[in-house]
Formats: sequence, C-alpha cells, structure tokens
Amino acid sequence: MKFESKVVHAGDRKRRPGQPVPSTTPIHLSSTYFYDSAATLDHVLGQPDEGVSYARYSSPTNEALEELAAALENGRGSLATASGMAAVQIALQAALIDRPHSILASHAIYGATVGLLDQVLAPFDVKVKYIDLADLEAFATAVEQNRPGCVFLESISNPLLRVANLARIIEISKRAGAAVVVDNTFATPMMLRPLEWGANLVVHSATKYLAGHGDVLGGIVVADEQHYQPLRTLARITGPQLGPFESYLTMRGIKTLALRFERQCQNARILAEWLASHPAVDRVYYCADPNHPDAENIRQYFAPGLFGAILSFEIKGAAKDSVLQFMDELKMIVPGTSLGDVHTLLLYPLIASHRNVSPKMRERMGIRENLVRIAAGIENVDDIKDDLDHALRAVSAAAAEPALTRTL
Ligand SMILES: *Cc1c(COP(=O)(O)O)cnc(C)c1O
Repeated sequence: MKFESKVVHAGDRKRRPGQPVPSTTPIHLSSTYFYDSAATLDHVLGQPDEGVSYARYSSPTNEALEELAAALENGRGSLATASGMAAVQIALQAALIDRPHSILASHAIYGATVGLLDQVLAPFDVKVKYIDLADLEAFATAVEQNRPGCVFLESISNPLLRVANLARIIEISKRAGAAVVVDNTFATPMMLRPLEWGANLVVHSATKYLAGHGDVLGGIVVADEQHYQPLRTLARITGPQLGPFESYLTMRGIKTLALRFERQCQNARILAEWLASHPAVDRVYYCADPNHPDAENIRQYFAPGLFGAILSFEIKGAAKDSVLQFMDELKMIVPGTSLGDVHTLLLYPLIASHRNVSPKMRERMGIRENLVRIAAGIENVDDIKDDLDHALRAVSAAAAEPALTRTL
C-alpha cells in the first residue's frame, strides 16, 4: 500500500470470526480484560504480544494506533506514549539498555530533549556529549573517542532547518556499535523514514503533525526488530502509555496526514518565496532554497517535491520588543508554542524554544534576536500572507518613525 492509503487503512478493521467489524477503531477504556477460559488469560499474561490483559501492557485502541504508526515508518512495531518527551526518554532507554551508558547527541535538538539528557539521564550516570552533525569528520572522531551507546539526532533541526547526512551518520555510529535514535517530528514519515536508512528507533511528538489539530499531547516510538521487545518490556514496567482517548484522536488525525502535510508544505514553500522578497525581511530559512547548506541531503532523503512545512525568517532590524509587537499584530496566525497543526503557528525562539539558551550560545547557533519560525497550516495561503504582511508593515513603520523624527 502507498502512504496515502496506509494512513486511512493500517491498524483499523480487525476481523474476528463471527464478530461485526467496526469501520473505525472504537475507544476502549477498559483497564483489564479476561477470556472465556482462565487458561487463555494465563497464556496471554505470559505472552503479552498475543492478546490484551491489562492496559499498561497493551489495549485495543492503542494497538490499532501502534500498528498504524509502525506501518507508516516501516518499523517492526511501535509504542504510543503520553507525550513526545516520554517517547524520547523510553527510546533512549531501549537503546542504552545493553550498551555503554553514553549518548552522543546533535547540538541542535529540542530544548526539552537537552533537559532530558542533562537533568534526567546525566544524574543517572549517562555520559552526554553534544556535537555538530554537519561536520562528519568531527562526528567520526567523537564516535571513536567516546564510543557512545547511542547517537541521537533530529532529522530536521529547529529552527534553522539543517538536515543531517543520515546514511553516513548511521554507518559511522553502527560501525562503533552505537544505536541510532532519530526524532522525526518535523519531517513526518511522509517525507522521510529513518528506519529505511538503518536507524534503530524513531520518535515523534504526535502532538505535532500526526495528531495535527492542536488537541492531543502524545508521542510515538517506532522500533526495528532488535529494539521492539526491549521497548515493550520497558513500557510494561514503567507505564508511559498514551490514554485510549488520545490514541483515538491521534489515529483520527493521521487519517488526513497526507492531505494536510502536502498542503502545509505547499503553503510553506509559497510563503518562503514571498518572504524572501519582502522589504521587511532580512533572511529566510527553508529547505527548498537551492542555496541551503544541506541541499544535497535534502535531495537524497526527502520525498520528491516535499520540503517540509516549517520555515524561519529574520525581521529586518527588529529587536525583541519589535518582534513581540509583530506577534501582537497577527490576527489569524496563532502565536503558540507548537507546530504541525491545521492552523498556522508562529513561534519566537528567543522567548520559547531557546529561552534557556545563553545569548552567547544562541549567537554561536546562529539564532538571532529577530528570528521567528512559522509552521504553515492548511489555510488559504493568501490569508497567511496578508496577516504576515500587515504585521511586518506595522513593525517596520514603527521602526521607521524615530528615524523620521530625527531628520525633521
Ligand atoms: C514538541 C517536540 C518534542 C516534545 O514533544 P511533546 O509532545 O511536547 O512532549 C520533541 N521533539 C520535537 C522535535 C518537538 O517538536
């Protein structure tokens, strides 16, 4: 089945002899399950993959979503978790359980993931190092020196949208015995499937594109053959499972993922081109830019014609107060801290994702005071343009005012 068909069919409509087949998977809220015979329950409690018994082990709504997610990423199986962060944590634990407790991570990763590494895992004696994955030689040297148990990266970095050379990173990591965990939230399995390039575990914040409507907090871990059982065992013990209602919402969201994401990518591309020639804009970051520093990786790893639905841009001459004023001027675009929703979202890294990064470090990362990030929604792109245009003009007019007063 092609991707557009998998999103509407995988995981649903399980047939059981003599039973009616629901056309969509219902919300199963039961915490325990039993069988006609205690012998069957005995069997299932011993072989939790062969039936449901207790909701921390598995439950029918979650199983349907997990089968769907595994089909989309082409994995052995998946686990639906209560948040993207819960997914990152359990994926790293599954990767490290029988490897050296040492993680080599890309330096351009989600803020809470840095928090997880530094404040949660490091105190439990996990060694954590950060590296710039654009420099493959430095990466290979760091792998040699550190011998990490796990390499962690995001398939598209935030907010400057760098795209790593996945196949080379996986090759170097695996040669040293390290597992590779990829956060694929920004790319979605429609544009990139890291397991097909040899990654071991893929995580998603399902809160973003998968659920897609701003009404779910959730996560997904998709594992390869080697890591699926360790992942399930950890989940059975620690219990990070997504609730059945959120599982249902996420599955319902995924059914329109292909339509939504295609439109979001198209809107983002139009916006990137339009912003590049806007008088109040200094610089645009978008993956379709032919001068993108990772254009070769983008060509190799992204599905043809798709360049993602996120773009960032710098507002000409804007200091923090002008950017805040720009955000207040927006009438339709939602100035919220997320991405991947049907509505367009705008995020200011300085006060949100990179709030806790020191000014010096931000400077080194190339994240300026005038940088904002847009996650394109599915609206008519002209309405998004109009909203950005009037907000940009409002702040550039305000910026021009004092200069005018001076000349007078
Ligand atoms: C949002 C996000 C997360 C965390 O997900 P939550 O669902 O908020 O816990 C992790 N990685 C990336 C890239 C994200 O955008």
